[in-house]
Amino acid sequence: MVFNWNTLDQEMIKDINQKKILQLLQKRREMTKQEMSQILGLSIPTISNNINELMKEGLVEEGGVADSTGGRKPVIIRFLPDARFSFGVDISTQHVHIVLTNLDSQIRHQVKFPFSRMETIEDIMKKIAERIQEIIKEQQIEGKKVVGIGFSLPGTVNEEIGNLEMAPNLGLYHISFKNRFSSFYSVPIYIENEANAAALGELHLGVAKQMQNLVYLSIKEGIGSGIVIQGHLYKGKNKRAGEFGHMSIIANGKYCNCGRKGCWELYASVQSLLSLYKKTLLEDEPYITLDYFFHQLDEKEQEAQKIWNMYLEYLATGIQDIILSLDPHYIVIGGDISLYGEHLLPSLKQKVFVPNSFYEEEDNTLVVSALQENASVLGASLLPLHNLLFYNDSVL
Ligand SMILES: [Zn+2]
Repeated sequence: MVFNWNTLDQEMIKDINQKKILQLLQKRREMTKQEMSQILGLSIPTISNNINELMKEGLVEEGGVADSTGGRKPVIIRFLPDARFSFGVDISTQHVHIVLTNLDSQIRHQVKFPFSRMETIEDIMKKIAERIQEIIKEQQIEGKKVVGIGFSLPGTVNEEIGNLEMAPNLGLYHISFKNRFSSFYSVPIYIENEANAAALGELHLGVAKQMQNLVYLSIKEGIGSGIVIQGHLYKGKNKRAGEFGHMSIIANGKYCNCGRKGCWELYASVQSLLSLYKKTLLEDEPYITLDYFFHQLDEKEQEAQKIWNMYLEYLATGIQDIILSLDPHYIVIGGDISLYGEHLLPSLKQKVFVPNSFYEEEDNTLVVSALQENASVLGASLLPLHNLLFYNDSVL
């Protein structure tokens, strides 16, 4: 068989054109073909052909006519946000969060449930599949409108082959996730690491819609991070770029599970903040949560203030290293600590932007995640939409 490159190129161009049209319509909601042609620089026949196909697929519809200065009134084409749906599933170390979203990433329905250490990944995945079936039924969603299910996982993910390489907090290593669990669903499944999924969420739905370079920091029990460069997720050769949580910030510091010493997450994660605080109180009580800590900080308790100051120094040191290595537009702080943004940001900025020869406060923007606890799950729900909506981002 002779391989026809020409046909392949044409298919690719058509695919990109359709995504461009759909993206533009999603932004503007409704437009005439003439307006699309002007903005996208495509001919009216090209726009018409593509619109016809998009209408056949039920993604857009004709809706009324626009005013005209003479001649035939142009037809308005309308974007249909509920034409397709996607599921995002965030599996963290203790619970599962499922969202059903439409093409605008509006959450139509969501559920959260905990799981125990006794449950295997097989058990958890079975439960997730059952819940998704229930949601489709309850919400009366036509099965063919569901484009897929995106999973956000707490570990190193090879999204190309669909493998979960390692998730030490779940005790999982080398799981062929896609192979093993695809049969649970009648639609395609996609996987990504939780911080990378959150970074995608921030890129498309959160703070970084304009400027496309960002580092997302998920500050929870550990520190995960996701890097976006010029709108592309950067994962590196072995899919583990941005393991900033394991940068050594203290020479000969504490021993880390990873085999190194002085790792950043041993000093700047939520867990380390709370354990530092518990140590000064000489108490190890379950009531000492982040809420309790920030309450004591508000009450100006001395121990809390001292620990907070120390913690911020550690957190700032790692962020300074990230600014020096990547110079991103945004550093987005997510994870549990991001719920306390008003405590965090002003004092953290002071510590990060100390006088130095390289950067000033205006150079890089430090923000708290706009999507907060939904960043990873919304990012995961975007994964199945790639084939439909996104033409300009990939994984590097
Ligand atoms: Zn480490």
